[in-house]
Amino acid sequence: MLKGRSAIVTGSTSGIGLGIARGLAAAGANVVINGFGKPEDIEKERAGLEADFGVKAIYSAADMSKPEEIAGMVATAEEAFGAVDILVNNAGIQLVSPIDEFPIAKFDQIVAINMVSNFHAIRAALPGMKKRNWGRIINVASAHGLVASPFKSAYVSAKHGVVGMTKTVALEVAEHKITCNAICPGFVRTPLVEAQIADQAKVNNMPVENVVRDIILASQPNKRFVEVEEIAALAVFLSGDNALSITGTSISIDGGWTAR
Ligand code: NAD
Repeated sequence: MLKGRSAIVTGSTSGIGLGIARGLAAAGANVVINGFGKPEDIEKERAGLEADFGVKAIYSAADMSKPEEIAGMVATAEEAFGAVDILVNNAGIQLVSPIDEFPIAKFDQIVAINMVSNFHAIRAALPGMKKRNWGRIINVASAHGLVASPFKSAYVSAKHGVVGMTKTVALEVAEHKITCNAICPGFVRTPLVEAQIADQAKVNNMPVENVVRDIILASQPNKRFVEVEEIAALAVFLSGDNALSITGTSISIDGGWTAR
């Protein structure tokens, strides 16, 4: 379905990004993976994409808080594959803290990685997409791009910003056969969420199972975590030719969280 296409997935050494990179590769796309981790684990993942799906995969160590490294990642991808057809802005971090105690540098870092990096990557990838008159931009926002929770001021601000940027980009490029959409997952049991569960267990002096049932899954009416593979399947669909008319929208994949 995506044979001959090339994709960048930011923050794809773990969790949702890794799942999306594998989904796009399974559909036939060449992939640039990105993110932090042990070099041997990253190389295993990169080589695995090539071996499992018969595509080309390269790794970019670009730090999503550094604009020049983001532009460099897009240039590297264009050089290696001749194009960036699909850009998935997924890298993200979280910190849970009351706003009056929120560390200032951490707030800035969350906004930079979770939102501003999307601007830099889109800005660098769009000229090539316009030239080829084809492109797919997928921003991994969150249910927290649509609704708020207490103690997540930086994350909620950044993710609402991502949803706004998604709409703006969609309008600007609509006539170039380029789409831009946001995916808004509920809770997915990735390392990002495991850390939150551990923090909440400590703060509330509760066993982990109770945190999962009474705090985390309390938001999700279907009482289950979203699976990485479900998000990957949605990203693959949005990357396909049949999704040309879906643009500027935020697609919830949250077990009913934001239907309340
Ligand atoms: P994760 O911690 O498993 O993965 C985050 C990835 O981002 C890793 O590959 C990490 O190395 C990378 N990363 C972090 N900082 C980076 C930087 N400065 N430069 C480059 N890469 C960087 O987290 P996840 O749960 O898979 O989250 C992925 C995205 O999905 C995030 O944007 C997150 O906000 C969003 N999201 C997650 C959930 C959830 O429940 N897990 C829900 C909604 C949205």
